[in-house]
Amino acid sequence: MDYSEIINRIGDHWKLKYGKKIFKITMHGDFTCPNLDGTVGNEGCIYCNMKALEPYIDLKENSEIEHHMKYLKERNGAEGFIAYFQDYSSTYPVQSIEDKFKYLDQLYRNAVSHPDIVGISVSTRPDAISKTELEILKSLNTDVTIELGLQTINESDLEWIGRGHTVKQFTDAVELISGYGFDIVAHIILGLPNETDEEIIELARFINSSKLNGVKIHQLTVLKNTRLEKLYNDNKAPEILSENEYFRRLGILVSYLKKDVVIHRLYTDAPSKDLVAPLWCSNKTGLQDRIFKYFIENGIRQGSIR
Ligand code: SF4
Repeated sequence: MDYSEIINRIGDHWKLKYGKKIFKITMHGDFTCPNLDGTVGNEGCIYCNMKALEPYIDLKENSEIEHHMKYLKERNGAEGFIAYFQDYSSTYPVQSIEDKFKYLDQLYRNAVSHPDIVGISVSTRPDAISKTELEILKSLNTDVTIELGLQTINESDLEWIGRGHTVKQFTDAVELISGYGFDIVAHIILGLPNETDEEIIELARFINSSKLNGVKIHQLTVLKNTRLEKLYNDNKAPEILSENEYFRRLGILVSYLKKDVVIHRLYTDAPSKDLVAPLWCSNKTGLQDRIFKYFIENGIRQGSIR
C-alpha cells in the first residue's frame, strides 16, 4: 500500500506544492535558548541535549551547503531544498551578538539566496519569536515555516519538562505567526508522565481546531548528559514507551488528526552515541516500515475518527 494513502506526509505535500522532490537542508547559526541562558531558565528542558544534534548542523559556510546539496541530489534525487534552522531556538542568537536582528537578517537572507532553495523553516519557542523576527522572515519573499515547540497541552507535563512556557503562550504565538500567513508546525511528544489515551485525543482535537498546518511527533527519549538521564539512572523517570506502546499511542493520535494536518515526523531518532532509551529508535532502518505495518494491520488512517 502507498503510505500516502495512510497519512498526509510532508514529502508528498511538498511534491504536490512544488512539483518536485524537496529535502530540508539543515543550516547552523550562533543560537542559544531563553531556557538555557537564564532569561527563562538555566537548566533547559529535561531531555535537552542540543549537542546530540551537532553532527547534523555543521553547515555554516556556503561551500559546505553547496557540497551537501550536491550529495542529496546525487544520492536521494533531491530537486529543491528548504533551508532549515533547528538548533536551540533559531530566532534567538547568543548574547554576545550585539545586533541580533541584523544578524538574523543576514543569516536567513544568505540561507535563501541559493537558486535551489524554495523556502525557509525556522524552529523556535513560543517565547522567542516576536513581530521583529517575523518581519525579517516576511521580507525574504520566500515560503516560511515556523516550527514551534508545544510538546503537550498538559500543563503539569510542561512543568515536568521544565519548558518555561505555558499552552497559552503557545496559542498566542500561533495567533501572531498566523497573521503573517506562514505555515506553523507544532512539535509534540508522546509518552510524557501524565499522558492518557483521552489526552492524546484531546491533543489531536486541539491541533485540528488551531491554525497549525502540521505536526512533528516524537517519543519521549532519554539522551545522555540530560536531567532525564539522571532520573532514568535513579529509576525516577516515567516509563519509557516500548515500540509497541508507542505505535499504539501514535495510532490514536493519527486517527484523530484531520487529514489536512501535514505530518512532518513520526518518531525521533538519535545517534547511538547519545541515546540511552528507548533503544528501539537507535536503528531507524526499518522503523518507518514497522510503523506503517502497524497502521495497516490495525486499520489506522489519518482522520479516520473524528
Ligand atoms: S527549548 Fe529546545 S533548546 Fe531550549 S532547553 Fe528546551 S529543548 Fe533545549
